Amino acid sequence: MKKILILGSSGSIGVNTLNVVRNFPDKFNVVGLTVNSRIDVLEQQIKEFNPEFVVVTDESKAKELRSNIGNLCEVLTGYDELLNAAELRDYDILLGSMVGFAGLAPTLEAIKRGKRIALANKETLVVAGELVTKLVLENSAEILPVDSEHSAIYQCLVGENLNEVEKLILTASGGPFLNKDKSFFENATVDEALNHPNWKMGNKISIDSATMMNKGLEVIEAHWLFGLPVDKINVVIHPQSIIHSMVQFVDGSIKAQLGLPDMKLPIQYALTFPERLQNNFKRTDLPAINNFTFFEPDFNKFECLQLAFDVIKTGGTAPCILNAANEVAVDKFINKRIKFSQISDLINRALDKIENHSDPDIETIFECDKVTRELVNSLN
Ligand code: MG
Repeated sequence: MKKILILGSSGSIGVNTLNVVRNFPDKFNVVGLTVNSRIDVLEQQIKEFNPEFVVVTDESKAKELRSNIGNLCEVLTGYDELLNAAELRDYDILLGSMVGFAGLAPTLEAIKRGKRIALANKETLVVAGELVTKLVLENSAEILPVDSEHSAIYQCLVGENLNEVEKLILTASGGPFLNKDKSFFENATVDEALNHPNWKMGNKISIDSATMMNKGLEVIEAHWLFGLPVDKINVVIHPQSIIHSMVQFVDGSIKAQLGLPDMKLPIQYALTFPERLQNNFKRTDLPAINNFTFFEPDFNKFECLQLAFDVIKTGGTAPCILNAANEVAVDKFINKRIKFSQISDLINRALDKIENHSDPDIETIFECDKVTRELVNSLN
């Protein structure tokens, strides 16, 4: 029986993780759940999965939950309690599905304890990839990617030698604006940007898919996760989202992993690796899909994708600046304070204005995140 701590259980990955766990009651035991504020979802999860404790970051919501559920389970509150849970509680697998930079600190706690981290929070590797991968080695921790592309690559690499990889090919759906002109970005609405053609996801990642920053963050994530230089990482548009990514080897052979666009499969793989467990998820009907298409991404139109390739070459704190600026800019766009086209502008301005530090330690990364957020919040 594996004990699981789920950070961010009310989000789309958290809910899907519980959908997986529900199928294997004799394999997994949910020991803790954390949410920011969505106690309605959490209350149902407590009743079904009976965790030892939950953390609700928002204090007033924690209070409300306590009065709703009585002694059903321990209800803690605040970000520090969330860190304490990762640092001190008894668990085998941390499922990290918090949104954004906030996922970094608890993930580091789990790494220091040599745990398995099923990582959905790509920002952790984007902002602190070098430190994180070093700590993982030092502490014999394990990162199993939940991101569907990285899960695909991980699966393609089983039994292979990394030295024989010629390139990774990350597939991208192209998001809701794939067939729009760049001029459309001036007046693109929040609803249009949230309307992803293939995947149902949270708001932040949906906007990141519309700008293709999501694919950019995934390039950086792949760079750290698989230890390959960025010039060995390619992005190809594949609008059907059935091939989740590919690996090309030095002999020209390409391996791909396929499946329906459903996060339950990569989540289950991250929880059960190296085993594969039988499930009743919907199977891929290839004749019904009918055709696969591929083409090059337009780096001029999707500037955020280009910026992600650029910051990994710059190195140091540049990826941290990119990530923090993007988080603030996306939030501003969702709250209708800037246009869609300004997201990449704000990131560019932050990268211009904020000093880059090479070989950052963790304090430098936290400081860089803070300074970037302050700057981008003050821009419009
Ligand atoms: Mg992905």
